[in-house]
Formats: sequence, structure tokens, C-alpha cells
Amino acid sequence: MSLTSTHEASRAGMAGETAARLMHRCKWLARCTEKPGEILRTFLSPAMDEVHGAMRPWMEAAGMMVAVDRAGNLRGLFPALGSENAPRLLIGSHLDTVPNAGAYDGVLGVLMGLALVEASAERKYPFAIEVLGFSDEEGTRFGAPFLGSRAVVGELEGSLLECVDDEEVSVAQALAEYAAQLPETIEATLSPESAAYLEFHIEQGPVLESRDLALGIVEGLAGQSRCSVEFRGQAGHAGTNPMKLRRDALAGAAEWMTAVEAIARRFENGVATVGQVTAEPGGVNVIPGVVRCSLDVRHAEDAVRNAMVQTIFDEAHAVAARRGLRVEAGQYHEHPAVRLDAGLVALAQRAAGHAGYGTIRMTSGAGHDAMVIAPHVPSTMIFLRNPGGISHHPDESVAEEDVAAAIHMGLWFLDEFVTYVKGKD
Ligand SMILES: [Zn+2]
Repeated sequence: MSLTSTHEASRAGMAGETAARLMHRCKWLARCTEKPGEILRTFLSPAMDEVHGAMRPWMEAAGMMVAVDRAGNLRGLFPALGSENAPRLLIGSHLDTVPNAGAYDGVLGVLMGLALVEASAERKYPFAIEVLGFSDEEGTRFGAPFLGSRAVVGELEGSLLECVDDEEVSVAQALAEYAAQLPETIEATLSPESAAYLEFHIEQGPVLESRDLALGIVEGLAGQSRCSVEFRGQAGHAGTNPMKLRRDALAGAAEWMTAVEAIARRFENGVATVGQVTAEPGGVNVIPGVVRCSLDVRHAEDAVRNAMVQTIFDEAHAVAARRGLRVEAGQYHEHPAVRLDAGLVALAQRAAGHAGYGTIRMTSGAGHDAMVIAPHVPSTMIFLRNPGGISHHPDESVAEEDVAAAIHMGLWFLDEFVTYVKGKD
């Protein structure tokens, strides 16, 4: 065996051991919940404090300085070799959950940061590693997502602070109460030394499994359009109106919905979903007169997404014209697409290759903390295969060998990052 292959074998072994520990920890942290019988952890909750309490000793044992900032984000700093002002590699994800969650969404990415520090403990790098456990990504408590990551980039402000939870407590009040009981005051900001952000996350979809791959490199997060489309026809008696004299709003909406599916298929990697439909008056023996539909459209390129939305709206008007219906279609919310850093995406792909894993480049259809961080710090994401694509559900899972693959490629990422940081000087 050559020196390099011995080194690679011991590295793979180390990744395997660390992965086993990570899986065990995910299950352990799943016990920290606000609701017995299911996993639920929300922004600034006692269950979140329990997670911090469990993770702090693990992080300290790995040589990290640990603190919780004023926005409830858990932060651990593994110092660089040498200079105090060395660049930092941020590795993070979120520690909150949706109701009745699985054990890996978010948590896995935070524990990956810790795992990489542990697996590389004997060798220090010329950059510091900061592990971030964001306090809110899902928006479960206040209905507004990304509160933790928005805080650290200085975007937790304005009307966001006025959102209230079920007890009518505002974000601003919750933050003030939380910060008052912290033993030390750590501002929720990013260090100016932050050089890059890396987030590992389960895919929450079936693509990697369908391609028989453990890992995917995320090069961008899809932009989103939220629209509403309303069809108006003529309500009437289901028995007395002959078919050819009807103006059935629901039959028109149905024709349009199958067209939405066909249109989305024509745009490569575009997705469009009608998730809500209401029909009025809603009687079993009444022809529907008014139908309101939601429409969610996503694509990695904003121009393509806008073209999809326009084509879908045009189709609604065409269907309405043929059927004598009126239609109103409009977009009420949009989030632009986010490109991740091309240099880091290439670096991640190289690292996976060095570790012996084939990968594909992917666009995330879901939002992640990287979406908030990327405009401020060069960012990339690694997806791990998610069996069945099941997430936001207690059956959510990830294979231990895929976690080992992520750790193994992560160690290569750290090696390659030495050169990346030098190139930025
Ligand atoms: Zn997540």
C-alpha cells in the first residue's frame, strides 16, 4: 500500500467512526422536544436550550469555544493554526424543526460541522472553523422563516420583528426576553473574517436516490413565484342546465391545471404546483361559479421562471376565452433565485472526487439558510441522499454510509479550502 492510499484508508475509517457517532447524536437530540411523542423545536424554546446543553460539551471536547448569541444561534469556534484574525470557514444549518419532524433536517448539517472538526482534530488549518446552529429556519413559531440566519446577516429587522406567535408574543419581545437571561452577551453578527459558508443538508427529495448517488453539489437555490388564479363562470342548477350552455368555472380550472403540468414539463428543471383549490358555492348539485387556485412556480433562472409564469397565465386566459369564463391571474410574492459561489461549488465537486464519490450539480427547490447567507459570504451546499425523498416527517432518514461519505469528502474540502483561502489573499 502506498503512503497516500494508507492515508486515504485511515481517513475513510475515521469518517466511518465519526458518522456512527453523528447518527447516534441525531437520535439523541431528537429527544429534545416541546411536544411528547413527536419532534418539535421552535425558535428560542426550552427544547432548543436542551439541544444547546447537549451539544456544548461535545463541541468543547472537540476543542471549540462555544457560545449562544442574542438571536439564539449556537456558535462554536475551532481556532486556526497561528493568527487570531485568520479567515473563517463557517459550517452550519438549523436546529429548529417543523411540527412532527424527522431527526435529520437541519440538525445533520450542524453536527456535520462538529464531525469535521472532530475528524480533523489532530491537524489544525490556517483558517478557523465556526460551526453555526441556527435558531430558526422553518418559521414554525412566528410564521416567518430564517430568523436565525437573518439575524447574523443583519436582516432581522422592520416588520419581521412585529410577527407574533400563538401567544401574541412578538419576535422583538421574544428576543429581548431571551437575551436578558443569557449568561454572556454575544451579538448575532458574522465575523468580518468569515470567508465561506458550507451547509450539508439532506436532499428532501428523490433525485440523488434515483441517480444512485450519495452526494450532490448544490450550485443554486431556485427562485419562487407565488400566484393566485381565479376563474369566474356562472353558478347554476346541476340538473336543469344542459352541458353546452354551461360556464363551469371548475371544469375550466381543471383543464388549465393539467396544462400547468404540461407547461412546467416543457421548461427543463422547472416546477409548477397548484396546491390549493376552492370552488364556490360548493354544493353537490350546483355548477361551480367561482374557483380560486394557488400557483407555486420555481426555477433556478429568474428569467425562465418569469417566462413559465407568463405562459401559465396566458393559458388560463386561453382556457377562459374558449369556455366563456373570466379569469384574474396575478403574482403576489416572489423570491429571486440564489446562485452559490462557483469557486466553492467546483471545490466541493473536486473534494468529492478525491474522496472517490461521483456527484451531480443540483438546484435546490427548497429554501435553506444558505439562501440568506450567500449574498453576504461565498457559499455552497452539499446534499445527502434522502431515502424515499421523505422529509418533514418522522420517517425521514439518511444512511450512515452516506454520512460517512459526506464526512470523507468534507475532510477533502478542508484540505482544498487551504488553497482557496490563500488565493483570496
Ligand atoms: Zn432544513
